[in-house]
Amino acid sequence: MCQVNGETFSPKLEPQIIHGKACVKCEKDSVIVVGTNGTFCKDCFEVYFSHKFRASMGRNPLVRHHDKVALAYSGGNNSSALLNLIKKGLDPATVKKLKFTPGLIFVDERILYPSDDYEKVKEIEEIMRNTGFPYHIVKLEEVGAMCIYTLYIGIVYLIVNHICFNVNVMFKKEIPFLNHVIFIIDQVFSTEDTDEKMTNAEKLEKLFNSITTLTSKQETLYRLRCYLLSRKAKELGYDHVFMGETSTRLAINILSNFSLGRGVHLPQDTGFSDGLRFEGVGVKLLRPMREMSMKEIAVYNALNKVPTVFLPNLATSQSVTSSVQNLTENFILGLVAGFPSTEMTVFRTSNKLHGKNDEKKSRGCCRLCFGAIDTECGTAQATALRHTLFSEAIN
Ligand SMILES: [Zn+2]
Ligand SMILES: [Zn+2]
Repeated sequence: MCQVNGETFSPKLEPQIIHGKACVKCEKDSVIVVGTNGTFCKDCFEVYFSHKFRASMGRNPLVRHHDKVALAYSGGNNSSALLNLIKKGLDPATVKKLKFTPGLIFVDERILYPSDDYEKVKEIEEIMRNTGFPYHIVKLEEVGAMCIYTLYIGIVYLIVNHICFNVNVMFKKEIPFLNHVIFIIDQVFSTEDTDEKMTNAEKLEKLFNSITTLTSKQETLYRLRCYLLSRKAKELGYDHVFMGETSTRLAINILSNFSLGRGVHLPQDTGFSDGLRFEGVGVKLLRPMREMSMKEIAVYNALNKVPTVFLPNLATSQSVTSSVQNLTENFILGLVAGFPSTEMTVFRTSNKLHGKNDEKKSRGCCRLCFGAIDTECGTAQATALRHTLFSEAIN
């Protein structure tokens, strides 16, 4: 529910308190309903929320004492809640103080959006400065300087090894979700585009202008952002990156990934850690908020008056059917409204799925998403790639 505040819309900050129902922990009156986990009073909700975060970290003990951890901060609800949890966890008065050293990385993606949100980025910088943690603002276009060499090697690798894709066909026809590959191949081999006078910002703009579907744009942006965060964190001396992805977001990603033929990389894309995806290139991306739902995060932020800043993204003001990701999001959120346990069902089911190629094999990895190569499929296997190739053959 939103309220008009001057010229901007802001979320209503007071969570709904229900009287006449008891807290499941301490039986106090006046409680907050949280998904399917029952009703809590304010104090018990704080304990429950913080415990979920710590339990997730405890079950996946990848962060050691005195590790440096970069939080991928965007100003949004999820990363703001995570930042607040870390600040509280590092407070000397906390019973079990967190032992790692945090820093913040904000990826500035304004190059992709026509609106000038200079003030909002200033606001985000102000929030980061107020935490007292070291913070870094990284422009998305910096990925251009990092990518070109690895992409070049990767593309040569793909061609030399006669991967199933027919490159000639790719140049002549648009294959959904892979048209960014065509552009990059074109960019590497054409003399005009390798002109050194072209800035990274121009290259990135050209890349996104060449992608015709919103689905591919969203997917490409997500991959570039992950790569940039992992690589930049390593450069800055961090050991891990914390992402703010919640169970709701991961449930959406799980179904989107299946739709995009990326099911084989599910454990890396939705697990607590992204495994060996960026091994040698960057640090691991960890998801300590993966057990929490979007609703729990919203309630936590409202109770603690956590400041958040909304920045537009590729999906802003786009229709539900404009991309696979938007449609899946609408589907999941629609189900969650009526059946709150849906997201956890999708999310927990995916935890039990393991692809054959969930870690890098001797065949190498994709140089765009850094996932294990899964293009070697036998004739008996029914895969998304075989389906695509079959469609190409009969057209
Ligand atoms: Zn209580
Ligand atoms: Zn890939």
